[in-house]
Amino acid sequence: EKPRLVDDEEGGVLFFTPSPSFSSGYGYASIEKQRQRLPVYKYRTAILYLVDTHATTIIVGETGSGKTTQIPQYLKEAGWADGGRVIVCTQPRRLAVQSVASRVAEEMGVKLGEEVGYTIRFEDVSNPDVTRVKFLTDGVLLREMMDDPLLTKYSVIMVDEAHERSTSTDILLGLLKKIQRRRPELRLIISSATIEARLMSDFFRRSKKRRDHESDEPGPQVEPAILSVEGRGFNVEINYAEEPAPDYVQAAVSTVLLIHEREPAGDILVFLTGQDDIDAAVQLLTEEVRTNGKKSSGFIVLPLYSGLPRADQELVFSPTPRGKRKVVISTNIAETSLTLEGIVYVVDSGFSKQRFYNPISDIENLVMVPISRASARQRAGRAGRVRPGKCYRLYTEEYFLKHMSDAAIPEIQRSNLVSCIIQLKALGIDNILGFDWPASPSPEAMIRALEVLYSLGVLDDDAKLISPTGFQMAEIPLDPMISKMIIASNQFGCSEEIITIAAVLSIQSIWVSARGIQREMDEAKLRFAAAEGDHVTFLNIYKGFLQSGKSSQWCHKNFINYHSMKKVLEIRGQLKRIAQRIGIALKSCESDVQVVRKAVTAGFFANACRLEAYSHNGMYKTIRGSQEVYIHPSSVLFRVNPKWVIYTSLVSTDKQYMRNVSTIDPSWLMEAAPHFYQQQRPHHLH
Ligand code: ADP
Ligand code: MG
Repeated sequence: EKPRLVDDEEGGVLFFTPSPSFSSGYGYASIEKQRQRLPVYKYRTAILYLVDTHATTIIVGETGSGKTTQIPQYLKEAGWADGGRVIVCTQPRRLAVQSVASRVAEEMGVKLGEEVGYTIRFEDVSNPDVTRVKFLTDGVLLREMMDDPLLTKYSVIMVDEAHERSTSTDILLGLLKKIQRRRPELRLIISSATIEARLMSDFFRRSKKRRDHESDEPGPQVEPAILSVEGRGFNVEINYAEEPAPDYVQAAVSTVLLIHEREPAGDILVFLTGQDDIDAAVQLLTEEVRTNGKKSSGFIVLPLYSGLPRADQELVFSPTPRGKRKVVISTNIAETSLTLEGIVYVVDSGFSKQRFYNPISDIENLVMVPISRASARQRAGRAGRVRPGKCYRLYTEEYFLKHMSDAAIPEIQRSNLVSCIIQLKALGIDNILGFDWPASPSPEAMIRALEVLYSLGVLDDDAKLISPTGFQMAEIPLDPMISKMIIASNQFGCSEEIITIAAVLSIQSIWVSARGIQREMDEAKLRFAAAEGDHVTFLNIYKGFLQSGKSSQWCHKNFINYHSMKKVLEIRGQLKRIAQRIGIALKSCESDVQVVRKAVTAGFFANACRLEAYSHNGMYKTIRGSQEVYIHPSSVLFRVNPKWVIYTSLVSTDKQYMRNVSTIDPSWLMEAAPHFYQQQRPHHLH
């Protein structure tokens, strides 16, 4: 049942109740009306005509115009899913996939997972026999190509949110262009909220000559069609900060309170960067309600970020109760991927978290960076959907004009390319440099990635993928270093333990996040802490959780996030199945944790660090790039500072911090990656 926001006495506290079920006729009619009111509805015939007659159709339309939820339905209604075919729509974000799929299932009056389904990593809510409209992440579609390189099940592939230019979207576009040549009956729709139409159109046109040579058969027009959906956004008044805010979380909170005090009804959408600052802002606002009762009662604060439990995600779409004001605090997922109704005020911090990779230091991490002007305009636009709105930018106008870049750099030009290259190689694309990218990655990043793959034992001297390790790695939907660690665990006889660690590493955090309980949390951590470091500590926690009978009380008592632990169980189950499929024997090393660390080293050898001898403040340097790094305060090895460590994640704030850390013996590095540490390079990399 869908949760619903219910009015309450205290203000700010949430209750869920299942929504009353509609008698079928009524619910259906009202949804039908809503559908017809969307801007894209007027273009239904035009869209269907263009898709019919063109191999590629590019559709640009403002956020909320109905592209994602409506176009797949139009295609279905027009027969594109007949005869067992499937219409598929990709999204860069997992949360968006879940959300739009459940909305479309609701609009079509079907059960999610049947006629309408979705697939994201570790979660498949679809049924190949009956699913006709499917939503998935672009990454999942890339993986599907390993089993079915021409994606023959799909009649229409809609690559949505193309303006985001995620790495997977870009790879996918390159591959789809190749597939099109082999499958003239396939239709592509590239849709996005802004710009890029010209760029995309040029990209798909580039292959024109070759195609004309290849076939004289009648088919769709190769020249891409472009359609622009005219929205009906209202004016948004922009307010700038007079001075830069020293603490944008605090500034966002104060702005929300000010709007609530002075402005008429209407919901507020706040853009922050990630779970940490969003949780902090939610907490500050909730405290405000508690201490300052009267003035700030009447608003309901909801966080929105990926990794949020499903029920919480759906709350942000629930209608705001009368007399209340909804405050949604979100990552940039609400910028274009999800449309929230009823937003009249937007508070824009001016930041987002983005992946950044430096091929010189070989370090990739998520960093907080200023958004582009294009993003700032999108964010402001969210306030003008229902009536004229207001946007409060927590930065100065000068900053907007002079210091923000025009548009963001495509992710592929700022990412580590290791997993991208493995995937392309596994798909038989050997000439990576000559691949037809919408935007080419940098040669430095490419060479770095080839080097790492060579040391991981995935490529041979000719840069060809080596089986079986390379193909095994391509099968595991995780970072290649984690995949390598899993594959190595087979020979160390500790696959059970390593799979647990891999599952923990693929979620954000297993600890509850809250400000002000640091001491209690540190004490809880000590109960599980292992001298060997965080990875063995994870194993202790997992064991404790199982011994408690997977109890939520146990989690609560130990400051462990129960939802995260359930997720770990789920992912662990999936990884076990994948491991078995690629021939890894499930085996436990019992209490021999040395082999566990050796397996971790086999995957993450590139992240080995050594404590600087003269350092009094715990400074380490990476063996490879001599980069300064420190152990993160959340690690059990914080202040212990062993001489040799290896990390599996890095966060950068004021400094670079290693977050999940284990002690190692340096001799393991030579065993794990002799080439890497002897600085020998295969000849083709010179
Ligand atoms: P676009 O892709 O053009 O940005 P969408 O198709 O996502 O537009 O949204 C169209 C409409 O559907 C919007 O009014 C939006 O509020 C509504 N909608 C989308 N997802 C949901 C959901 N999960 N719950 C309720 N309404 C939704
Ligand atoms: Mg959309």
